[in-house]
Amino acid sequence: MRRLTQQDLDQLARSRGLNLTPQRRAIVDFLHSASNHPSAEEVFAEVNRRFPMTSRATVYNTLNLLKAAGLLHEVFEDGVSRFDPVLDPHHHFVCRACGKVEDVDREIMPAPAGRKLLPGKQRVETYEVTFRGLCAACGGRAEQQ
Ligand SMILES: [Zn+2]
Ligand SMILES: [Zn+2]
Repeated sequence: MRRLTQQDLDQLARSRGLNLTPQRRAIVDFLHSASNHPSAEEVFAEVNRRFPMTSRATVYNTLNLLKAAGLLHEVFEDGVSRFDPVLDPHHHFVCRACGKVEDVDREIMPAPAGRKLLPGKQRVETYEVTFRGLCAACGGRAEQQ
């Protein structure tokens, strides 16, 4: 599971004809520095700390733009849309106590060998698994009690 470097991002943005303005870069940087898949609201709060007066609409539009350009993708958890800068296919772990969404390496659950068609004849192109439970911090706390 590879995280893109600043250089990769610049190259990717350029190849998609996307101009990374300071505001857009701030959004990308924040998503890359956070490992918990921030929601649009969290991105909005952070960008406003650095660029006060940034409207909610600008942040939402930028997220959609970056998504359309393939610089990040969207994950839905409990009805909230979150943003993920890791472009390689991977799974997620959702903590039921703190709500954190963490990345899980795909190797932990590879595709069943040779299973390209599901029993209903649907053709599988990609897949991701969501594990649920307690994260290290919350699980550790529970065990101390
Ligand atoms: Zn937790
Ligand atoms: Zn992820």
